[in-house]
Amino acid sequence: MQSDFPEKRNIHLFFIEVKYGPRCRPANRSAVTVENSERVRDMHVLITGGAGFIGSHLAERHLAAGDQVYVVDNLSTGSLANIDSFRGNPAFRFAEADILHWSGLDKAIAWADRIYHMAAVVGVKKVLEDPVAVLATNMTGTERVLRAIHSGGWNPQVIIASTSEVYGFNEKDSFAETDHIVLPSAGRLRWAYAVTKLADEFLAFSYARKYGLNIVVVRLFNTVGPNQVGHYGMVVPSFVNQAVRNQALTVYGEGNQTRSFCDVRDTVVALDRLAGCPEAWGEVVNVGNDQEISIRDLAKLIVQRAHSASRLEFMSYKDAYGEEFEDVTHRRPVLNKLRALTGFEPVWALNDTLDDLIEKARVKTLRAA
Ligand code: UDP
Repeated sequence: MQSDFPEKRNIHLFFIEVKYGPRCRPANRSAVTVENSERVRDMHVLITGGAGFIGSHLAERHLAAGDQVYVVDNLSTGSLANIDSFRGNPAFRFAEADILHWSGLDKAIAWADRIYHMAAVVGVKKVLEDPVAVLATNMTGTERVLRAIHSGGWNPQVIIASTSEVYGFNEKDSFAETDHIVLPSAGRLRWAYAVTKLADEFLAFSYARKYGLNIVVVRLFNTVGPNQVGHYGMVVPSFVNQAVRNQALTVYGEGNQTRSFCDVRDTVVALDRLAGCPEAWGEVVNVGNDQEISIRDLAKLIVQRAHSASRLEFMSYKDAYGEEFEDVTHRRPVLNKLRALTGFEPVWALNDTLDDLIEKARVKTLRAA
């Protein structure tokens, strides 16, 4: 795969506003299901971390829409397998590089109409293993991207990925963008991820305000779907793999903690709409699904849908993470802002996502056998 695209500054964004006006919400409900009625074709899309789970789904969506896609990824948690199907597509380029040192960054940013900055060290286990890398990649990497956008003198649409982790121990039932951030003051490394992402948010707002950049900060709630791997502690791929092998599902703690899972194929629709939404620029927006489930019920549901003989095995956080661990007890997004801005509604129900993942895991297990 090549690593160079020609230099080009695009004028698509001008046409987006002239043609569709400043609003991004489709005019009627039926338009929501039409692939991006506000989209202009042949957009130049740069995705940092584009070989990762969400990044590769963004790449797929934009390639399918006829856009050109440039992915940069250091393959630390992303993988070539995630972008394998794009090889040979002339609209796709890949650079294997670290966002901290990539010499092609300025050129790629000057080329891009839209940038999704997804490159980050993610996953609680990974964060506990290598907190130094988390701080460097997640903060310095983001600052480097923002500085390049500003120095480029061009104003692309930008998505900066943040996380629902920033809400920390907030005790409200569900979290809205205006709610308080509640993080413990004693320095447990477990919170390094949230703190770096919060720093990214403030970096993004500072650049957006000072230089008038078109940046949307998205707080991603738990995202699930094809290509997500369980090695870094993600619960759904871990449980699905255990269920299809009839192994015990490892529930951490008592399993009363809750999460709200959004299918990545919905997530990328929301990100695409937000990026092209002038009213969202300079804003922070929750992205996810507001259906909440406890981890114990999730485990039972996966066993049931997989017709698995697996049992549940309850494991202490200390055994699971190798140290005392402060888990978030519940996590559900308030999606009013996202809905008002984009008309977004998730299409994938959790059962459908799980059935799809179970089927894919079965095929993979059979192939490996
Ligand atoms: N979890 C679990 N078993 C696993 C992996 C995770 O019980 O094998 C729990 C974890 O403690 C957390 C929830 O599932 O309460 C979601 O974990 P994940 O790492 O997927 O996301 P996050 O903690 O970032 O929400």
